[in-house]
Amino acid sequence: MVSALSEIFEEFADLDREDQSRFLLELGDEIPELPAEHRTEVNRVHGCQSQVWLITETTGAGDSAKFRILADSDSNIVRGLIAILQAAYNDQTAAEILRYDIDGVFRQLHLQQHISPQRRNGLRGMVERIRSLAERHAVSVTRAVDRDSQTRSERPSQPVRTLDIGQIRSQFPVLQRSLPCGRLPVYLDSGASAQKPRVVIEKEREVEEQYFANAHRGTYQFGLRIDEEFEGARSAVARFLNAGSADNIVFTPGTTIGLNMIASGWGRGRLGPGDEILTTVMEHHANFVPWQQLALETGATLKLIPLTADGRLDQGQFEQVFTERTRIVAVTAMSNMLGTITPIREIVRHARAVGACVVVDGAQSVPHFATDVIADDVDFLVFSGHKIYGPTGIGVLYGKPERLEEMRPIHFGGHMISQVSVEKSQWSAAPAKFEAGTMPIVQAIALGEAIRWVESMGIEAFHAHEQLLTRELYRRLQGLEGMQIFGPGLEHRGGIISFRMAGMHPEDLAALLDQHGVFTRHGHHCTMPLHTWLGVSATTRVSFGIYNTQDDIEAFVNALTQAERVLRRRGSAS
Ligand code: PLP
Repeated sequence: MVSALSEIFEEFADLDREDQSRFLLELGDEIPELPAEHRTEVNRVHGCQSQVWLITETTGAGDSAKFRILADSDSNIVRGLIAILQAAYNDQTAAEILRYDIDGVFRQLHLQQHISPQRRNGLRGMVERIRSLAERHAVSVTRAVDRDSQTRSERPSQPVRTLDIGQIRSQFPVLQRSLPCGRLPVYLDSGASAQKPRVVIEKEREVEEQYFANAHRGTYQFGLRIDEEFEGARSAVARFLNAGSADNIVFTPGTTIGLNMIASGWGRGRLGPGDEILTTVMEHHANFVPWQQLALETGATLKLIPLTADGRLDQGQFEQVFTERTRIVAVTAMSNMLGTITPIREIVRHARAVGACVVVDGAQSVPHFATDVIADDVDFLVFSGHKIYGPTGIGVLYGKPERLEEMRPIHFGGHMISQVSVEKSQWSAAPAKFEAGTMPIVQAIALGEAIRWVESMGIEAFHAHEQLLTRELYRRLQGLEGMQIFGPGLEHRGGIISFRMAGMHPEDLAALLDQHGVFTRHGHHCTMPLHTWLGVSATTRVSFGIYNTQDDIEAFVNALTQAERVLRRRGSAS
């Protein structure tokens, strides 16, 4: 039985240091042991001298759910501190925990004076873990409420699950592989390509070894099975995006090709001098160059939605930049460099008012937070399989049925036709119209598997985990001297942080991080106009996936600190 806070105050406050330690030991005896299955890496609290694991349980639902702290340590004094935290926080709601003056409790107990600086850090680590679990709960409740109030066509919200990241990480063979330096890889480049879980790798193997054939060709056993799997993957994608029908899902080789298909197949022939294409300076080249080229070809104008100084779309300027001449708005849902999450619904609202078509680059958003193309009312959305734990060579183009009807195919050949004569040809209906020739069949099926795998845990839970990591890294980096983080504050960004450190060239830094088995990206990240706007030639980028942990952040910050020492000593160009 855990003592009540009032009892602790009564007995504890006036004790001297030695007696407080004895009392903490006694309190520590009172708390129940944390079951072994919860003593995992993911539940470990960092910054403590001893081992500490901490989780929370809730009873009730929504914002009135009450929290209970479950924690344990190999140190009995720390168990005593846990008993104090339990007495203080148990039975509070997330909002109450976030408002609670825990420092006031520590002051009243004179705790800060009586415990060692290391223990103080550990105590702070536990408090931060409790607050971040409460915050995660509060965010998920707000999101569910927001979604419910925004539209009735959206899917019912699922409760956000707490994931066992250690278990998830163990499903990624490449992350278990020792590097020549003897360390396991710290993979922080999921924004470029995510690693693949075993189920996806095995799915590819299953297809190749057991029933491979071309799709939509043979009616023999393998052919039928392949068709079923291929179309099953399309249905999985449609469900994941809430696309209404699998017919609105076109398989492509990736985001880049999908965007080119839209620019050429829908934009060309529709635009002329005086028309405007609206985009942003933060776009990946894949969502910039096709529109730039289309403008040059057709005489249309490429116009940029201004950014705020911290790298968000300046919504105050929407009224001016969306005009009667705007035909296409092509925008990323999340910047691959700044991490900025853009307000797609606001963009769509303004586009509708002027009759423009909205093309969303979902390469960085679809793998990291929920996408609902119907609720968002976008015309087109594209993404790549390799960023969502699937294979390379496969991507998706979603289009509203009427847009796909209007869009011309740009690749011609087998499967996409309904009639061919010597004089002319007629096209099949979408999606076949856009899938000429043999598709990346195995990759499409494996993408379906990757999406089912994400769905089995819930994309909301992926987002919540990645937001926690982002917050932690952001906080750690902010504290470093000479650090410049690009992009907005945490409330407007996903799991990407790009930065520069004074005196350290990103290329040199990447090489030194690599020596520690820490893999990051450096350079312009295919966003040259954005880097020009920011006035830098290159940055270092960390981007998270579901398998990343607090330990990865720890390893990264350690490697960064060591690299800094080396580079500062040598005076690396900045
Ligand atoms: N758009 C964004 C925002 C990206 O981050 C990327 C890749 O990094 C792309 C487009 C291009 O994707 P792909 O190379 O898979 O075609």
